Amino acid sequence: MHKIEHLGIAVKNLEESNILFAKLLGTEHYKIEEVASEGVRTSFFKSGPNKVELLEATNADSPIAKFLEKKGEGIHHIAFAVDDIVAEISRLKGEGFKVLNEIPKKGADNKLVAFLHPKGTNDVLVELCQEIKEG
Ligand code: ZN
Repeated sequence: MHKIEHLGIAVKNLEESNILFAKLLGTEHYKIEEVASEGVRTSFFKSGPNKVELLEATNADSPIAKFLEKKGEGIHHIAFAVDDIVAEISRLKGEGFKVLNEIPKKGADNKLVAFLHPKGTNDVLVELCQEIKEG
């Protein structure tokens, strides 16, 4: 892992939070993307070299809907950039971490992603993400 790629924040209403975060960061979101398989709609902001991802649930079974129910709005996950997600998953499994997606899946923002179970990481949901190279 070589840097924090983005922070994921669970929100109830993406439109309202887009306005709020545009004011906070002084810049508009640069994309909105729905990940139907996860039941989420996301928007992305850049803040200097860093990114913030806002996540809204699109159905009641979405992990974001469940998170909002349990914990309310707030920081949902920390995503770390990795160069080789398959190697990193195998390294972390070797260290005893529980990987929720042994086979990385396609996430938002052109990334292959995998999550670690928060039970093993002090209740922090950790996302690994690897940029999908074009061509
Ligand atoms: Zn994320």
